[in-house]
Amino acid sequence: MFLRSWATVNLNNLTENLNKLHSFTKKGIFSVVKADAYGHDSGIVSRALQDLEFVEKLCVATPTEGKELRDTGITKDILVLGGLLEGEDELFLRYNLIPVISTYESLYLAKQKGIRKIHLKFDTGMSRLGFFPENLEKLKKVLDSFYVEGVMSHFPSADTDAEFTNRQIEIFRYIVQELGSPRHIHIQNSAGITFTCDFCTDVRIGLSMYGEKPTSSFPVELKGVMSIYAKIISVKDVRKGSRVSYCGTFQADRDMKVAVVSFGYADGLPRLLSNRGQLLLDGKRARIIGSITMDMTMIDVSDIIRVKVGDEVVIVGESNSEKNTFTEIAKLSKTIPYEIMCGISKRVVRIPIRG
Ligand SMILES: *Cc1c(COP(=O)(O)O)cnc(C)c1O
Repeated sequence: MFLRSWATVNLNNLTENLNKLHSFTKKGIFSVVKADAYGHDSGIVSRALQDLEFVEKLCVATPTEGKELRDTGITKDILVLGGLLEGEDELFLRYNLIPVISTYESLYLAKQKGIRKIHLKFDTGMSRLGFFPENLEKLKKVLDSFYVEGVMSHFPSADTDAEFTNRQIEIFRYIVQELGSPRHIHIQNSAGITFTCDFCTDVRIGLSMYGEKPTSSFPVELKGVMSIYAKIISVKDVRKGSRVSYCGTFQADRDMKVAVVSFGYADGLPRLLSNRGQLLLDGKRARIIGSITMDMTMIDVSDIIRVKVGDEVVIVGESNSEKNTFTEIAKLSKTIPYEIMCGISKRVVRIPIRG
């Protein structure tokens, strides 16, 4: 292996997670592969999903992301969550992408450009994208030239506010009835699948498909899909009193053995983990000491024997019985697992594996 750092994308775990989520929800799955499949490589992930029958659609954020999927040979339906803007109609038509329509501007543009198949999005409480339910009557009058294949909304707080989320479902129920129940009816994200939506036909799943639970009480057992590894490029004995890394935020309180790992904040390891996080080596935890630098991170390997240059360190994933998850890293760096996943940079080569 000539790579300094790499990420494996475990396609067996991905499909196993999806099978479990499908059995639990008993609904069609819209697999969310925006932002390069949350950093997992949208080509690798989408090709693995191509032949899963219950995966009804792939969801991306922009038509450019949709084009990239088509370019890697994806033939499944692609829904563009971020909608349609002036100048993008060519991409939608040429690459057969379905827009989520949530403004009158995009509705008229779609009509003018001959884009017929759409999903309509409603704002039931997030104040991001979507028509307000109050617009329904007016909206229904201008849908004649469209095939409204789907109607959707989105949960901002399914992981934190059940009452609010249930109210959204009731508003959505009214909207769906008014629109005569289109072919696809979807509002649930990963955290949302624990809510009952009996009239919904599909769920839009991102985080949980990639193996992270949106809440600690999430009822479906999942397996991590992406594991991240990096090599040790130097091991040294550091004298008591020595300072480690920029600004000397760590000072050795005894003689120590320090390993330099070829993975830094430019690879996506949050700098907030400086002096806080831990990496895994040979089934043991090694704490990060000093500031994480752009390309390298120092870890304390004083208590780990036989550490040598070239050894593999686990950034995310398992090392014997020890495990680092995106959720734990996110907690330590005061953010959410989504941001850590998306932030793994392209220097970290993604390698699909099965098994
Ligand atoms: C990203 C996204 C999802 C997926 O959410 P997860 O929490 O990752 O399951 C679903 N719907 C919309 C509109 C999104 O933007």
